[in-house]
Amino acid sequence: MGVVTLDQVENQIARGFRYLQFSPEIEALFRKEYAAERVRLAVIWGVIGVFIYDLVYFGDRTMLPDVFNELLVVRFLVFTPFVIGCILAVRRWPDALLYDVLAVAIAVLGVTLPMAAATQSASSYLFVYQNGNSAAFLFFVIALRPRFFAVVIGLALLCASHFTTTRLTGAFDDVTYSGIITFYLTLSIFLAVSAYFLEQKDRQNFLNQLRGILLYRQLERNAERDELTGLLNRRSLARVGEMLWNDAPRLAPVSAILLDIDHFKRFNDVHGHIEGDACIRDTVDDASFVFRFGGEEMLVLVADREPLQALAMAERIRTAIERLAIAHRGLGNGCVTASLGVASALATETTLEKLLQKADAALYEAKHMGRNTVALASAPKAGAQVA
Ligand code: GH3
Ligand code: MG
Ligand code: MG
Repeated sequence: MGVVTLDQVENQIARGFRYLQFSPEIEALFRKEYAAERVRLAVIWGVIGVFIYDLVYFGDRTMLPDVFNELLVVRFLVFTPFVIGCILAVRRWPDALLYDVLAVAIAVLGVTLPMAAATQSASSYLFVYQNGNSAAFLFFVIALRPRFFAVVIGLALLCASHFTTTRLTGAFDDVTYSGIITFYLTLSIFLAVSAYFLEQKDRQNFLNQLRGILLYRQLERNAERDELTGLLNRRSLARVGEMLWNDAPRLAPVSAILLDIDHFKRFNDVHGHIEGDACIRDTVDDASFVFRFGGEEMLVLVADREPLQALAMAERIRTAIERLAIAHRGLGNGCVTASLGVASALATETTLEKLLQKADAALYEAKHMGRNTVALASAPKAGAQVA
């Protein structure tokens, strides 16, 4: 769903879409879904449509026996392969505009081809024969269901084709001919108006669905975030851990950096809890997969880093906190600092739980070494201070 936000969708719902057009980002999504849905149905409707269209062959034989051969060619050798080609094309390139253009082309060809043959016929059943085209109008709008603008263009072309070919048969007097025109124009207007409201409904449903999905994602995200720091909370640890473990290349290590603010109890005692909370907020940096692990303990999980790279990253975090120079009056003229424990292992050889235990042991080590320092677990000289 990428770029579209819940706000954008709610704005669009509030603004409406009388001209059947969303803002560009939402419109792009709508077109994608529209194309996927129509292409899925294209095979079903293509088979049903062509089957019925070719069945009319029996009607051709009884109603227009004098142009029967031409109709046979038109139905089986031109129209049927053309529709099959169109279905293959939209399956290959599922695009909204391509679908609409081909739907119009199929409808226009479906009406024009047999009517062109009919212009050469002297049959007395031409009136009944041309009636059959109303089924093509209905099929185009109700079964193929292109977007409204394509419906309007398609119906205009269908009318133009039908009126011209009907005229060219020379079989109808003016009254009958104007009756035919009235009937098809009325049908087209009804169909166009219904197509407008159908698309409106489709678009409304699309927006509601999109809003539901985005709302759900937001709730899911909120449930995974810590309110004070905006970092991931402990509840999300299992999910992220599983994801890291699944995605981690077999031979690349995963690392855990566990951070604990030094002498924070004293900070609270001297500065008060509110300032203590503000200090926690200031010391975190929203990198990916940073968790608030406990009160003033943060956890960073990283994949694909060698132990020394993870150690360097921890050192960068330590110095960044030191540079914040948050006054800690509980330490005389001192500033807030943190101690960090780092553990790395191959994902295939450890579990999240074991890795955290190792990082915790390293953190304990760092505290023992006098705080404001970084210690690496299971390094050759575990607990070595990084300058
Ligand atoms: P050290 O880690 O250096 O050993 O000393 P410490 O005083 O920081 O000890 P420890 O980490 O065990 O204690 C954590 C203290 O952090 C306890 C509590 O006063 C404070 N703390 C924990 N969570 C919060 C919080 O959400 N807000 C505030 N203001 N303080 C918190
Ligand atoms: Mg602590
Ligand atoms: Mg602490």
